[in-house]
Formats: sequence, C-alpha cells, structure tokens
Amino acid sequence: MIFDKFFGLFSKDIGIDLGTANTLVYVKGRGIVINEPSVVAINTKTKQILAIGEEAKKMVGRTPAYIVANRPLVDGVVSDFEVTEQMLRYFIQKVHKESFSLFPRPRVVVGIPSGVTEVEKRAVEEAATNAGARQAFLIEEPMAAAIGARLPIQDASGSMIVDIGGGTTEVAVISLGGVVNNKSIRIAGDELNEDIIQFAKDELNLFLGERTSEEIKINVGSAAPLKEKLEVVMRGRDILTGLPKSVTVDDEQIRAALSKSVQQIIDAIKISIEETPPELVADIMDRGIILVGGGALLRGIDRLVAEQTQMPVHITDESLTCVVRGTGLVLEDLESLKEVLVTTQYEQPPR
Ligand code: ADP
Ligand code: MG
Repeated sequence: MIFDKFFGLFSKDIGIDLGTANTLVYVKGRGIVINEPSVVAINTKTKQILAIGEEAKKMVGRTPAYIVANRPLVDGVVSDFEVTEQMLRYFIQKVHKESFSLFPRPRVVVGIPSGVTEVEKRAVEEAATNAGARQAFLIEEPMAAAIGARLPIQDASGSMIVDIGGGTTEVAVISLGGVVNNKSIRIAGDELNEDIIQFAKDELNLFLGERTSEEIKINVGSAAPLKEKLEVVMRGRDILTGLPKSVTVDDEQIRAALSKSVQQIIDAIKISIEETPPELVADIMDRGIILVGGGALLRGIDRLVAEQTQMPVHITDESLTCVVRGTGLVLEDLESLKEVLVTTQYEQPPR
C-alpha cells in the first residue's frame, strides 16, 4: 500500500514486551524507551486505576487495604484483561504523545506468552488498536526472544530458548520460523522470591517483605556453588516478638532455599529435550541452549543447566531486553519476518 509506505517514513512504530514482571517498549529508530514494572495500582472501592508502572510498584506493600497494586499478567497469561488493556494504553500513549501529534498512528508489535488463548490474543490486538495503534501484530515471546538473541530462526535447524521471567519460565524449540515444542511452567523469578521468604520464616523466624527477598536473590542468590562466599544481612520482623530483626545469611543457605524451584526449571528443560526430535536435538547440541529473561541472571544457573543436560548453555548479553529487542527487529523487517507473527482468526495479513 502506497499510503502505508508513506506513513511508515514518519510513524514511530512500537515494539512491546508485555512481561509478567516488566514491560518494555521499543521505538523504531530510537531503541528501548520504556522499561517499567508491569504493575497497576487499583482502588477496589471505586475500581479506579491510580497508577501504572514504576509509580504503581512503589505502592506495593505500602497502600491501605482498599488500594491493591497488582500485576495483571502475573501468571504469564492475560488474565485480567481490562487492566491489561489500560496498561497497554498507558505505555503506548506515553510514547505516542512524546512524538508530534502530526505523526500518524504507530504500528505495534506485541510479544505475548505462547500459552494465550484465541480470545486473549484478540483482546491484546484490540487493546493495542484501541490504545492508538494503526495496526497491531502479535508475536510469541519465545520467538521474539530468539530473534532478539539473533538466532537463525528461519533456518531448518533447531534452537532452544529458555526464558526465565517473573511469573513463568518458557522453554521453546524453534525451527523454520515456528515454535516446534513449547513448555510453560509457573515457576520463575517470583517463586524464587517466595522460596527466600519461606526459608526466612521457617528457619530464622523472620518475616521478610517481597522486595527485600528479591534484593537478596539478586545480591547473593545462586543455582550452583560459587568461587567466593557471599553474605547478606536479612532485615525483617521477628515472628515471635514482632520487632525488627536482622540475620546474616550466606550464599549456601540461599542456594539451598532456591534449589527445589531451580530444579523444577531444569526438569522442564530436560523434558522438553526428551520431546524434541533427534535431528533438532543435534542442532541444539551444536548451538547450545540459550537462556534469556531476568532469571537467567541467577548466578551459576547456566553451569547447572549445562551439567544436567550435557549441552552447552549460553546467556545472551542483556537477557532482560531480549524479547523487546526481538520485537524491534521485527518492526525493522516486517516484510520478511511476517510469517513468524501470530495470526488470529480475524486478522488482516500484514501489508
Ligand atoms: P518477565 O518477562 O516475566 O516480565 P523478566 O524477564 O523481566 O520477567 O525477569 C524478571 C525476573 O527476573 C524477576 O523475578 C527478577 O527478580 C529476576 N531477576 C532480575 N535480575 C536478576 C538477577 N540479577 N538475578 C536473579 N534474578 C533476577
Ligand atoms: Mg519476558
């Protein structure tokens, strides 16, 4: 379409990673412009949305009971649709408003978890269009991550991508531009935070907040033994006295607390390998398993996966931004990559 080409020159096309923990927005020609928590604060009395993103996250655990700061995508699926739509609208408009209003409405590529239903896909598309998109395209997150990691997704050769996010871990095998095998489990970064909270409660009589436990995970958490010992002071509330209490813990204790969940993640990878046709397994053997998502940054997880699968394992640089960079690459090259996009029943083919 000639008009589309013309508009394309000026429009700020947008790529979005709608993650369970973080939402990232990429603008064509500018790179990543938004990286905020996928959190929405709602007044349950009036059903009003009070804040979205960074601002809403600050409210977590600090609000009166009738204000809830929740994460609409927390299980990796678009469960709370209305709120998701508002969030999507907020992020799209934040970018769109910054540009001149003379700019035509953007085309938008949204990365969605691969487990979402037809209805949810349609809903995300509609949300993007309602929020100001001229056209909305969907891409499965593992595919976007693979493109972001610059894997040769369109070749007749297998790649395995493991995305350890906040709410879900997705294990996908990709070949010939399609997802051959996909497994999604609800054990990822959030669960690891829970493990630390549970450990503190059971072993140390200490109540920990969610943010504190996440900090501890990031600062001293690990999946495999470390060369140097790490220590951290855990600050919380004593279960017995109700008073503030600090306890020093080391990496070994935290590793033990995380080990069960970490093992479940690795088991999902092993099962996926078992289900993959032998030719593709041979390809993965050559290329290695690619770990992405924030959870890939847990110390030593690459070593442990390698040990248990007998496969080489790689962590891409900037694993937290892999999906959104993938959506960006799709925008740059919509023509040749359109076959990797998800089509819904009603969708018009990309022009
Ligand atoms: P999603 O795609 O589901 O939004 P992300 O890929 O953004 O999730 O990852 C978020 C998760 O990664 C959170 O649980 C966060 O605690 C975790 N994370 C971020 N950095 C680190 C780190 N250095 N070590 C361990 N976990 C991390
Ligand atoms: Mg993600």
